[in-house]
Amino acid sequence: GDFPIETDTLVIGAGPGGYVAAIRAAQLGQKVTIVEKGTLGGVCLNVGCIPSKALISAAHRYETAQHSEDMGISAENVTVDFSKVQEWKAGVVKKLTGGVEGLLKGNKVEIVRGEAYFVDNETVRVMDENSAQTYKFKNAIIATGSRPIELPAFKYSERVLDSTGALSLKDIPKKLVVIGGGYVGTELGTAYANFGTEVVILEAADEILAGFEKQMSSLVKRNLKKKGNVEIFTKAMAKSVEETEAGIQVTFEVKGEEKSVEADYVLVTVGRRPNTDELGLEQVGVEMTDRGIIKIDKQCRTNVSNIFAIGDIVEGPPLAHKASYEGKVAAEVIGGEHAEIDYLGIPAVVFSEPELATVGYTEAQAKEEGLDITAAKFPFAANGRALALNNTDGFLKLVTRKEDGLVIGAQIAGPSASDMIAELGLAIEAGMTAADIAMTIHAHPTLGEITMEAAEVAIGSPIHIV
Ligand code: FAD
Repeated sequence: GDFPIETDTLVIGAGPGGYVAAIRAAQLGQKVTIVEKGTLGGVCLNVGCIPSKALISAAHRYETAQHSEDMGISAENVTVDFSKVQEWKAGVVKKLTGGVEGLLKGNKVEIVRGEAYFVDNETVRVMDENSAQTYKFKNAIIATGSRPIELPAFKYSERVLDSTGALSLKDIPKKLVVIGGGYVGTELGTAYANFGTEVVILEAADEILAGFEKQMSSLVKRNLKKKGNVEIFTKAMAKSVEETEAGIQVTFEVKGEEKSVEADYVLVTVGRRPNTDELGLEQVGVEMTDRGIIKIDKQCRTNVSNIFAIGDIVEGPPLAHKASYEGKVAAEVIGGEHAEIDYLGIPAVVFSEPELATVGYTEAQAKEEGLDITAAKFPFAANGRALALNNTDGFLKLVTRKEDGLVIGAQIAGPSASDMIAELGLAIEAGMTAADIAMTIHAHPTLGEITMEAAEVAIGSPIHIV
């Protein structure tokens, strides 16, 4: 037996949920231990948000380097050294994961490498290859994240890839099949299409990016089709995969017809499942749904009062910023502050072409709830900066409460939608009205003016459209 090490707050998992929770708990005076079995930064920094955005931006540069003829630019012999792209991407990841380590140490958080397993509601065992150590804690925050779902007919292999596999290819594939037109499939499909790969997207629903309004997802679809090397099948069921000499052959069914396609790889992105099955949670009686989602209250507390859960393992959109937000709430509750989760201001973004972003209510959601609303739209095509960027595809829609103009939601499709959505999140959090945004001076010429103009539309006095 070993001597248990005592700590105040024990955090399991160092993704964007766990590491943020650990830092905030330490800031509030707790003695904090964080346990990580893999790499600091979790999925997001190592094999999710960051490397995917790195790949997307490299692919976009390659594509625009070749296709800026409209602006009078033509370039010959634009080449890409994919191993260099991968090296650069790895460098970005390394900077950030190293940064997380520095931040944890700077906040005096003890970092423990190994896999944590609950013994009881105040004890975990942490095991690594050749040792085991017991920790006693007053409070624990579980932040173990999620992993890709595997389809029984598509066992992961050298050629049947999950998102991690698709992010770490050594060469640009000639042809790639993507099963699942959600945000991961669409983002990675777009990136490889920009690198020149022929891409076939198979989506079971009637639209790709089904979580977004059709007006938005159809812009993305139209753009993908315009590339010329992307095929999209909706209402398509992937059936099976066979390895061939040159790669793989995927069979799928669309409109009652069986089709097959040969490719180098197939990327399967059909959702993720929570990492709650190998934690010993039954030992402590933490309540979960039958899908393994841990049930929490508004303070991120499980049914066991000193155990909290955050991030991909709890209800809600599996997004990094949601995990971090919940991490701060859990840490503050443990630190004795008043905090509780309120998801209205949580944005969701797809780094597609154009980018899509939403925060708060959509028009349809507001109507479903019986709210009397105004939906005011402004097109990127009427904005000088968008024209100067030669990137005018898209619109901003502002959803406000009719009685008083309160901003309750916004959706953006267009260049930099991912950054622009922050202003609308702030407006919602701060309880601002359309008039407040309309009277805020936005620099000219910027995409931010689109937000101001949509607010002017909402209050009935737009300057730049009639
Ligand atoms: P994770 O990041 O999954 O971290 C959990 C950590 O816990 C892991 O490091 C794991 O090793 C560790 N762990 C698990 N079990 C144990 C144990 N028993 N003991 C010790 N450690 C353990 N989200 C966005 O918001 N924006 C994006 O652009 C975006 N892009 C994405 C792209 C891809 C390809 C993928 C796959 C995901 C993307 N996401 C994005 C989602 C985002 O990565 C997740 O929502 C986020 O990482 C969840 O954070 P988390 O802290 O809950 O868990």
